[in-house]
Amino acid sequence: MKTLSDIDFKGKKALIRVDFNVPLDENFNVTDTTRIDAAKPTIDKILNDGGSVILMSHLGRPKGKEDKYSLKHIVAKTSEVLGKDVKFVNDCVGDEVEKAAADLKPGEVLLLENLRFYDEETAGDEAFAQKLSKLGDVYVNDAFGTAHRAHASTTIVAKFFPENKVFGALLAKEIESLDKVLKNSEKPVTAVLGGSKVSSKITVIENILDKVDHLIIGGGMTFTFVKALGGKIGDSICEDDKQELALEILKQAKAKNVQIHIPVDVVAADGFKNDANTQIVDVNEIPDGWQGLDAGPKSLENFKKVILESKTILWNGPLGVFEMESFAKGTIALGEFIAEATAKGAFSLVGGGDSVSAVKQFGLEPKMSYVSTGGGAMLEMLEGKTLPGIAAILE
Ligand code: AMP
Repeated sequence: MKTLSDIDFKGKKALIRVDFNVPLDENFNVTDTTRIDAAKPTIDKILNDGGSVILMSHLGRPKGKEDKYSLKHIVAKTSEVLGKDVKFVNDCVGDEVEKAAADLKPGEVLLLENLRFYDEETAGDEAFAQKLSKLGDVYVNDAFGTAHRAHASTTIVAKFFPENKVFGALLAKEIESLDKVLKNSEKPVTAVLGGSKVSSKITVIENILDKVDHLIIGGGMTFTFVKALGGKIGDSICEDDKQELALEILKQAKAKNVQIHIPVDVVAADGFKNDANTQIVDVNEIPDGWQGLDAGPKSLENFKKVILESKTILWNGPLGVFEMESFAKGTIALGEFIAEATAKGAFSLVGGGDSVSAVKQFGLEPKMSYVSTGGGAMLEMLEGKTLPGIAAILE
């Protein structure tokens, strides 16, 4: 894997694809700098080597050139995070941009205008990628959030740097963390898969069955399994057409010696709302008119035992409807078990969507070994796919 440390950037211009798709308020102030912070180590390394940096990113989903999606809005914040002046150019390709890039001195940073002001970006247009490639000597991809897209700046541009393309520090860390879980993992390995539907996680389940010792299934997915096994799930969320599949997964797990853990009790509610009436019931005996919205106390005890004995933990998807306080306890408790296991030396990776928001919301992020920065990209990696943005650097 070619990373930043393989290149001395002294006197070189690094063209870096970052993911600065940050949230802005109505006055165009950046409300969360996580993504800019995440790119700082890569930028600092290059500048410290004596190189200069050209940053390219998308922001939102503009239709043509829309001022509200201009990256000019984030220049001040980026300067603040990097602790140095960031220059900005009103376009991302063309003569003016080429001149601004050529004029950069070692230690300087230039931010380009939103790549998606050109349809060629998402179309993966080769001529557009070639124009981008004129701006730097080395191509660095540090945008994990878009690594699953074969866009001009994330994938196609790499072919114009056959000898000079590397992963940025963030992207390298994402790949390493996933490898630690699925390739070079210390046993026992446990995956926790929650969320709403079996259908959206099926490829992930199939891919990880070969790699884990324990699989904890939680969230709305639970009920498709429980119903398939003959339980009474009341009004709980269920994908009837996935019951066969659920049984097939259980069969495969058995054949592969993977222990599956499903909630034995749930917090059932008489409505999908925070102030609904609730009761703890056996997962197989949910009364009609009631729906399971969180894992119950016995289930959590079971999960705790498994988690605390694990040396490697992957967590994707909440155990309940954590957006509502009344049904967040299971997800919080699970996060705390994983934090405890991590403190004892386990490696924990949280990734692929809603569990990341949950971990952040409940202040558990610092207690995990690694929290992934890319939802869709991480999910595709968990599915066993090779992401085009990653493949383009490896080729
Ligand atoms: P996903 O995007 O598939 O990871 O699903 C995340 C969503 O699943 C969250 O918005 C949760 O509110 C939802 N969820 C978790 N448990 C349940 C449940 N028991 N019933 C309905 N939705 C759930």
